[in-house]
Parts: sequence; structure tokens; C-alpha cells
Amino acid sequence: MINISKETAENLNSRVKGEVVLPSDSNYDEVRKIWNAMIDRRPALIVRCAKPDDVPHAISFARENALEISIRGAGHNIAGNALCDNGLLIDFSTMRNVRVDVAKKRAYVEPGAILADFDEAAQSHGLATPLGINSTTGVAGLTLGGGFGWLTRKYGMTVDNLV
Ligand SMILES: Cc1cc2nc3c(=O)[nH]c(=O)nc-3n(C[C@H](O)[C@H](O)[C@H](O)COP(=O)(O)OP(=O)(O)OC[C@H]3O[C@@H](n4cnc5c(N)ncnc54)[C@H](O)[C@@H]3O)c2cc1C
Repeated sequence: MINISKETAENLNSRVKGEVVLPSDSNYDEVRKIWNAMIDRRPALIVRCAKPDDVPHAISFARENALEISIRGAGHNIAGNALCDNGLLIDFSTMRNVRVDVAKKRAYVEPGAILADFDEAAQSHGLATPLGINSTTGVAGLTLGGGFGWLTRKYGMTVDNLV
């Protein structure tokens, strides 16, 4: 197990707008939990991003400390690919904003948004796009895998609708 000292983590914490979580923190187990409860991996530290600007800081830190990186959207992937052991988890699960530009019929989706977040924002304008069936799935991971759902037969895969 790689141990990142409190001091080293504090240094990173001061550079990001989000939160840095270590195994010694009381919320560590809660934060590393994903949808498939059978997956029990323990990252050396977790960067819970609040803004896109947090990402380069997390990547630089991982490089400087030779840490593997994993990325969590909404953490719904069954194989648990969002979580690494002993590495740095870039956690987007609290970045869930979805903004809809009605004139362009375009949605801007933060990387931790789940399908329910998207549907709530889009449906308030009478809009929709092909996404998945289960509303707790993440938009990011689903789109990276193609994405199929209720509207796919008529309007294609999620990725076909990605700008
Ligand atoms: C109950 C259930 C129902 C499902 N139903 C459907 C369905 O109807 N249609 C469908 O198409 N799929 C469905 N899926 C599959 C689902 O789309 C995938 O599991 C998807 O990976 C979940 O995305 P996530 O963001 O929640 O997952 P995560 O586990 O957070 O991420 C999945 C993968 O994408 C990577 N990733 C996430 N965000 C980023 C990013 N910003 N940059 C780079 N890499 C990133 C992660 O590292 C990981 O490897 C379902 C899954 C479950 C468990």
C-alpha cells in the first residue's frame, strides 16, 4: 500500500477547489464506494473535483508521485473500472450540473451527471436525447461505451448525438 503523507496531500488540497481524501479520513470508505458493492479497491488518495481546473493538478500530482490514475464518472460500471488500488482516483461524482441551451437544442453536461440529472434539465424544456434505461447511470461512462436506451431505435446511440 502506498502511503501519501498528510503534508503532501495538504499541498495538493491547497491547489484544488474540491477535496482531497486519504485512507485515514473518516469519509474515505463512503467516498470510494461505487455502484457494484462487490468491488473493494483502495485508492492511495481521492481528488473529488469541484471544477475542471482541479484535473490538471490531480494529473500532475499523480505524475510526480508515480501513481496510477483512475477516473470516476458516476461509478456505475459493473467491473469497477472507475476505481484503482493504490493509485489516484479523479472523482467527478459531485460535478453533476447539466445546462440546456434551448435555442441550440444542446446540453452541456458535467462529468459526474447521472441520467436523472440530464432528464430533469432537458425535460423541463420538452427535450430529450438517447441515454440509458436506468436513471442512476452516469452520462459520461455511458456515452464512452456508445450508450443505448429508450430512444435509440428512433434517434441512434448516445454517442451519435454527442457534439
Ligand atoms: C443497472 C445498470 C443499467 C445500465 N443500463 C444501461 C443502458 O440502458 N444503456 C447503456 O448504454 N448502458 C447501460 N449500463 C452500462 C453503463 O452505461 C456503464 O456501466 C457505464 O460505464 C456507466 O458510466 P458511469 O459514468 O456511471 O461509470 P463509471 O464507473 O464512473 O465510469 C465507467 C468508465 O468510464 C470511465 N470514465 C468515466 N468518466 C470519464 C471521463 N470523464 N473521462 C475518461 N474516462 C471516464 C471510467 O474510468 C470507467 O472506466 C448500465 C449499467 C448498470 C449497472
